[in-house]
Amino acid sequence: MTLDTLVARGEQLNHELGREWYLTGAGHKPEADFQAIYDRHLILQDEEALAVVRGANEPALLEWIVDLRVGRRVAPYAEQQLAWEQQAVVTVGDRTVPFLRAGIEIQNAADRAWRTALDHAATAVGAAGLNGLRRDRLAAEREVVSAAVGNDDYVAAVAHLSGMDLERLAEQAEALLGETADLYGDALARLTRRRIGVPLDALVRADSGWAFRADDYDAAFPSDRLVEIAVRQMGEMGLDATEAGRVHVDTEERPGKQPRAFCVPVRVPDEVYLVLRPSGGHSDYRTFWHELGHAMHFAAVDPDRAFHERWLGDNSVTEAFAMLWDHLTLDAGWLGRHTAMGQGGSAAAGQIADLQFELAVAELYLLRRYAAKLAYEIALHRSDYREEIADEYAERLTAATGFRYPRELYLRDVDPGFYSARYLRAWQLEAALARALVEQFDIDWFRNPRAGAFVRELMRRGQADPADRVAAEIGVDPLSFDAAVERLTPLLA
Ligand SMILES: [Zn+2]
Repeated sequence: MTLDTLVARGEQLNHELGREWYLTGAGHKPEADFQAIYDRHLILQDEEALAVVRGANEPALLEWIVDLRVGRRVAPYAEQQLAWEQQAVVTVGDRTVPFLRAGIEIQNAADRAWRTALDHAATAVGAAGLNGLRRDRLAAEREVVSAAVGNDDYVAAVAHLSGMDLERLAEQAEALLGETADLYGDALARLTRRRIGVPLDALVRADSGWAFRADDYDAAFPSDRLVEIAVRQMGEMGLDATEAGRVHVDTEERPGKQPRAFCVPVRVPDEVYLVLRPSGGHSDYRTFWHELGHAMHFAAVDPDRAFHERWLGDNSVTEAFAMLWDHLTLDAGWLGRHTAMGQGGSAAAGQIADLQFELAVAELYLLRRYAAKLAYEIALHRSDYREEIADEYAERLTAATGFRYPRELYLRDVDPGFYSARYLRAWQLEAALARALVEQFDIDWFRNPRAGAFVRELMRRGQADPADRVAAEIGVDPLSFDAAVERLTPLLA
């Protein structure tokens, strides 16, 4: 087998997986059959494929072939989990809620007794139904990766494959937690005193969704205007939100459509889907701009680039572009210009400042949550996945977020393959990029065609370079959380 054959088959596989994902996620097809697609391309799973990519000296290709092995090996667990989740229900008193609806229900429940009881019940049901499966899945992934790399330490094996220095990132994350502890604690107290009405030490995880729900502002974020606003805003930067029609936006209501927005590339850069099922409020906007960022990033890639630069590489980069656009919905100037919040003079300015504060607390909550997750996930993968590690999960997450986390989530609240590290690196790169845009093009860079051209030039490269190399090019070396903390501090003070 030559490298060219391998790459051609890989592109075909990604194309078929992408289409299947789009058709089932958008509700065009009732059940996904990923297994059959993997089986049509078994050649990519054999030892020869591994040998060919080892000889190719292209880290992204080796990581991809190992990912395919993982994907096929864990597919039965993923399918069992999906099947279990679709039939499971949670019962509290005389009310029954589908397991998959519970999270949304909890987030939208103003009634504290109800959301706490529902979260408690859902956590117990989930642990009983899924923890065994999750343990087997994580162990299988560890086994496949360790064997392919030839390193029994899974953490070191992932670091080697991905090029991410996980230990160093965990040290930075630990420092971030220390550095922002007071800032976060004070801001969280201000927000939850008003929204939750209990002392800080009584907050539980079920309160976090409602604390950050920002429901007072729902009227300013009508879901039927998302696409129109995005087209206008990107247009002001000289960008085409559809990238000349390569981004297909699917907003039709359809039974079986996933509740959350998602983006899936079917061909890169020629055919990318952005699927949307709005449910109301600011979070629709943030999610839409995030997925639009992924979609525009895939659709903007130079078609002449190699397969691994168009499809593979460090996902911290596409996450950073998604975050660059979703963070616009946290920007006072952007909110004033592109939403109904801009109408009404000084009262409107006060409203925008209030919303911006709430969003900034939520942002630091998320950042601190992921910082804690990384340290925990390193410890978890060096354990035997037994329950002894559950206390460490609850302690770390509770200390970082200020909400008491249940220990039963210790296997479910895990991003396989250290995707948590990609998000953390994306936060670092995005904040550095946003700072550079402000420095070069001023605070309203989001309406400047020169800024648009600058960003598009970076997007055209796909993921040819990892996040740290992109950051170095804009003068930030090494990647750090400095720009993210710098941006949040004045908003929370
Ligand atoms: Zn994303």
